[in-house]
Amino acid sequence: MKNILTYIEIKDGAPIKLSLEALSKASEIAAEKGTKSIALITCELADGELAKVKAAGAEEIVVVKRDAYNMEDFTNIIVEVSKKYECEDIFLPGSLDGKDLAANVAASLDTVSVTNVMEIKFDGEELIYVTPSYGATVLTESKVNKAPRVIAVRAGSFDKRDDLNGAGNLVEENIDEVKDIKSIIREVVMAAGAEINLEDAPIIVTCGRGAASDEIFPLVKELADAFGAPISGTRPVIDDGVLPKASQIGQSGKIVSPALYIGCGVSGAVQHISGMENSGFILAINKDEDAPIFNIADVGIVGDCKVILPLLIEEVKKLKANA
Ligand SMILES: Cc1cc2nc3c(=O)[nH]c(=O)nc-3n(C[C@H](O)[C@H](O)[C@H](O)COP(=O)(O)OP(=O)(O)OC[C@H]3O[C@@H](n4cnc5c(N)ncnc54)[C@H](O)[C@@H]3O)c2cc1C
Repeated sequence: MKNILTYIEIKDGAPIKLSLEALSKASEIAAEKGTKSIALITCELADGELAKVKAAGAEEIVVVKRDAYNMEDFTNIIVEVSKKYECEDIFLPGSLDGKDLAANVAASLDTVSVTNVMEIKFDGEELIYVTPSYGATVLTESKVNKAPRVIAVRAGSFDKRDDLNGAGNLVEENIDEVKDIKSIIREVVMAAGAEINLEDAPIIVTCGRGAASDEIFPLVKELADAFGAPISGTRPVIDDGVLPKASQIGQSGKIVSPALYIGCGVSGAVQHISGMENSGFILAINKDEDAPIFNIADVGIVGDCKVILPLLIEEVKKLKANA
């Protein structure tokens, strides 16, 4: 039986959460199939970070050292490692780079990639990949007959496991850098606000159009600051320039899965919901009791943000002070 490889994307010396979600699912499938879950990393990791990769079930951790990301070079690394370690499934995080790599790895291996995978089911020995379409109002089930299969995982769809206890044997591989690289990233210049890391945030406070006024927005910010959480926005709030594009959650923004999502003046349009419905706990504040966000909220407060937010801020500050 062939193995499963997961590419671990690393940011600031740590695997991104989505990589560990992908690895956890790959390890569960490997255990079910009686194969090996192998993680691929492209730099050395501190012991604490390696422990997370082991805990997500990696039996082997293949290290191919690189100084910087390059799509063509990383594609080649994934292809070479997948061949050497006889992997017929290649999992990647569905991040921007992960989706880029998925398409290129699949093309290099003359196979197909399935991106945005939110569920994986067994059909006998075979796997069925579930992906959302039309803002997750339609779910598509795909079976891939040709191996290797390249799978990019959607954020928040699978649990990040810390109890799978893989052996995590470290193996260093030397793979020559691709020589005729067509494009090289010389410098990454972040747009204002682009460093906002919503994907890994445990708490997110979201500003909708109903809270974007000069009067209410400072309260949203105060609540986010009280939690030490980033602020995200719905598309109209981004379009109006209240928050930068990197803050947008939804179909044409980021897909997030914080433990706690707080929506302030968010109506709950399907294009927004598809980006945050996997949040652990959803608290919504809206003055319209029929707002669709209440259909998915764990706790809904019907009221004016102007009135509710100061009360919430006070309670959070009290809790923090007593923590
Ligand atoms: C192709 C496409 C892609 C899209 N992609 C995205 C996307 O990625 N992300 C996204 O968010 N949207 C996206 N949209 C837009 C989406 O359809 C909605 O228009 C948008 O999500 C609505 O944002 P909102 O909830 O902030 O605003 P609204 O729908 O205007 O809702 C504002 C809410 O605030 C409430 N409210 C008003 N005042 C107060 C107050 N004082 N206190 C409490 N509640 C109050 C109102 O009752 C209302 O429910 C997309 C649309 C299309 C067509």
